[in-house]
Amino acid sequence: MIIRKSPSELQKMYAAGQLVRRILGELREIVKPGITTYDLELVAEKQIKAAGAKAAFKGYYVQAAGKRFPTVLCTSINEEVVHGVPSKKRTLAEGDIVKIDVGVRLDGYYGDSATTVPVGKISSETMRLMDVTKESLDLAIEKMMEGHRLFDVCGTVQKHVEEQGFSVVREFVGHGIGTELHEPPSVPNYVDQGLSNPRLRTGMVLAIEPMVAAGKPDTRVLDDRWTAVTTDGANAAHFEHCVAITEDGPWVLTA
Ligand code: MG
Ligand code: MG
Repeated sequence: MIIRKSPSELQKMYAAGQLVRRILGELREIVKPGITTYDLELVAEKQIKAAGAKAAFKGYYVQAAGKRFPTVLCTSINEEVVHGVPSKKRTLAEGDIVKIDVGVRLDGYYGDSATTVPVGKISSETMRLMDVTKESLDLAIEKMMEGHRLFDVCGTVQKHVEEQGFSVVREFVGHGIGTELHEPPSVPNYVDQGLSNPRLRTGMVLAIEPMVAAGKPDTRVLDDRWTAVTTDGANAAHFEHCVAITEDGPWVLTA
């Protein structure tokens, strides 16, 4: 069942979303060649603590990995798609792209957002990958209206990405969000007629998160049991927003 949120609940989710937005904004400013992904982790951890919030990912048990996620952020570089673990050993270099994903719980409600940040100057093709991924999210957000169906959101991402010659990752998907980090429904970045296609209603909140590969969509998980990489080694981009459906249309809680 998809849990619909009241206006007062949406206000709390907005507060959580805005904390996530501020953290990503600050991290974006400090990304540069020579810093490590652990430097990003420390800044995020400090901000979450200062806000009286709780990190959503750190300690989150993941069945497939058989263990709890170790850090506040996911930081995934280049061919790493999602779920990279910040490390003092991972130094960002000119031309890299780093995906930063952060989730918090504030006042009982979750916020979750991700962005892809260029490190110094990147190639024009990598820039295009980032732009297309961001555009696919923006287009999908426009479908977040009463009367549409889930597949309108999913299909919009897929269509835009594939028209531009890139591919959407299948193994990881977006999700409902609220008092749990992951609530129904799953929000794939593609249409699968085998899945249910619920009608979208006011009060629903979805974390829409296109994960887009420059090459083939296939991924595998590294020996750390977290980091998902593209099997062909091509770059991937990831953007995520939490979006509520209101009577006035989509409300991006993390923007
Ligand atoms: Mg996320
Ligand atoms: Mg998410």
